[in-house]
Amino acid sequence: MENKVCKKCNRPLPEGYKHKKCESCRNKQVQGVKNGLKSAARVVGTVAILGVFIWKRKE
Ligand SMILES: [Zn+2]
Repeated sequence: MENKVCKKCNRPLPEGYKHKKCESCRNKQVQGVKNGLKSAARVVGTVAILGVFIWKRKE
């Protein structure tokens, strides 16, 4: 039987564990996705504001 370890930090995973990464790496990943979405939203917001600003100046 193969010994399952976390794909990221190589910590041993409990038997029957469904995921490829351990709980703490999975939490970090979720946090990273959330942060990524936040910065993406910020960029989109800034671009949208700039776009409206430029568009209004053209009128
Ligand atoms: Zn891990």
